[in-house]
Amino acid sequence: MDKNPCFTHLKCRECGRSYEKLAIHICEFDFGPLEAAYDYDAIRPLLTREIIASRPDSMWRYRELLPIDGEPTVGRQTGFTPLVKAPRLARALGVRELYVKNDTVNYPTLSFKDRVVSVALSRARELGFETVACASTGNLANSVAANAASAGLKACVLIPADLERGKVIGSLVYGAQVIGIHGAYDQVNRLCSEIAGKYGWGFVNVNLRPYYAEGSKTMGFEILEQLGWRIPRHTIVCMASGSLLTKIHKAYKEFAAIGLVEETAFSIHGAQALGCSPISAAMKKGSDIVKPVPKPDTIVKSLAIGTPADGYYAIHSMRETGGAAEDCTDEEVIAGIRLLAETEGIFAETAGGVTVACAQKLIRSGAIPAGESVVLCITGHGLKTQEAIAGHCGEPRLINPSLREFDALLASQEPQPHLS
Ligand SMILES: *Cc1c(COP(=O)(O)O)cnc(C)c1O
Ligand SMILES: [Zn+2]
Repeated sequence: MDKNPCFTHLKCRECGRSYEKLAIHICEFDFGPLEAAYDYDAIRPLLTREIIASRPDSMWRYRELLPIDGEPTVGRQTGFTPLVKAPRLARALGVRELYVKNDTVNYPTLSFKDRVVSVALSRARELGFETVACASTGNLANSVAANAASAGLKACVLIPADLERGKVIGSLVYGAQVIGIHGAYDQVNRLCSEIAGKYGWGFVNVNLRPYYAEGSKTMGFEILEQLGWRIPRHTIVCMASGSLLTKIHKAYKEFAAIGLVEETAFSIHGAQALGCSPISAAMKKGSDIVKPVPKPDTIVKSLAIGTPADGYYAIHSMRETGGAAEDCTDEEVIAGIRLLAETEGIFAETAGGVTVACAQKLIRSGAIPAGESVVLCITGHGLKTQEAIAGHCGEPRLINPSLREFDALLASQEPQPHLS
C-alpha cells in the first residue's frame, strides 16, 4: 500500500536508522523514538501556497507532510481553527502584536488532540487495526472515543480515575470502553505498553505514536499560513509530554525547508503548571535531564505527565530557537483563564490558563520583548474543566421576574464599565 512517495519511512531520532512504516515506535538498537521521515524534494512541487489555498479548510490541506499512504479516512473536517488577532489581551499583557491559535473549537472534540487522532486513526485503518486505544489525561480519550465511533472502530481508553467529569462523560458518551485507573498518568501509560504488546491493538500514543505525533505539526502549519505565510517571532506552547512543542518547531522548519515561508528568526517557549513541571524545571536549571514528578498535584490535569516522553527533545527545541520555559501556580492558571475570556471571549481549559499565565511572566521578565509578535497556542475548551474555575468567577445575581427588582439590583451594584 505504498501510495505516498512523500512519506518514505520511519527514522530513529537518536541513531538515524530507517524503519518500515509499521506500527512500531522504538529503535531496536538504542530505544530511541521513531519519527516519520519525508522526501522534501518530492514534496516541494506538490505543495505550493496556491495548491494549499485551493484545498478545503482542514488540517489535511498539508497532507503531503502527513504520514499516511492513501486519502485520510478519519477526521477529514479537523483543524483549520481560527487564528484570532487579540489586541485586548495584547494590551493587558503589555505586548505589541498578539494572536491566539484557538483550538478550543477544534472538530469534533474541542481540543488540539483531534489533530493527532485524525492522523493516528487514519493510519490505524491503513495498517488494519480494528480496535484502537490510548493512555490519556482526558482530551486524547475524548478524541479517540469520538473519532473511533464515527469511523466504526472499537475503542478502549485508559485514564487516571480522578479526571474532571467533563472529560470522563466526554469519552463515555461515544460508547467507548472507558477504564479509570487508580494511579497517575505514568502508571496508566506503563499499563498501556503492556496491553499493546499483549492484545495487538492500535494504541495511538504507544505503537502508533510516530503517526499520532505528526498530527501536531498541522497546528504550526496553520499558524504560518494564517499569519500570511510568515513565522511569528514568538510562539508559546503548553507542555504535557512535550510532543506538541517539538512538532510546532518541526512544522516551522519544514515550511522553511520547502520554501513556503522565509526562514526568519523565531523562538518557541514552553509552559507548564508548577504542580507538574518537569520540563520547565529542567529548562530553567539549564539541564536537559528531566527529573520525573512521581505525584503530580495541580488542577491542570491535561498536562499532568510526570515522566514526559518528549521532554528532552522539547528542551532542545526551546534551546535551539532561543526560547524559554515558564511555570505557574494553580491560582495563576485560574486568573489566566479569566483574562483570556474577559479580553477575547475565548473560554479555555486549564491548559490554556497555563499558556496565558506563562506568557504574562515571559513578557514581564523581558524573555519576550514588548515590541515583538507572539502567538499563544490555546489547546482545549473550558467547558470540559468547569470544576477548576467553579466558584472563582462569581455567581449569578438572583431576582424574581420583576422590573422593580431588576431596577433595584442595577442601582445597588458597583458600576461595571461595560454596562454604563
Ligand atoms: C495533550 C495536551 C497538550 C500537550 O500535549 P503534549 O503531550 O505536550 O503534546 C496541551 N494541551 C492540552 C489541552 C492537551 O490535552
Ligand atoms: Zn536508534
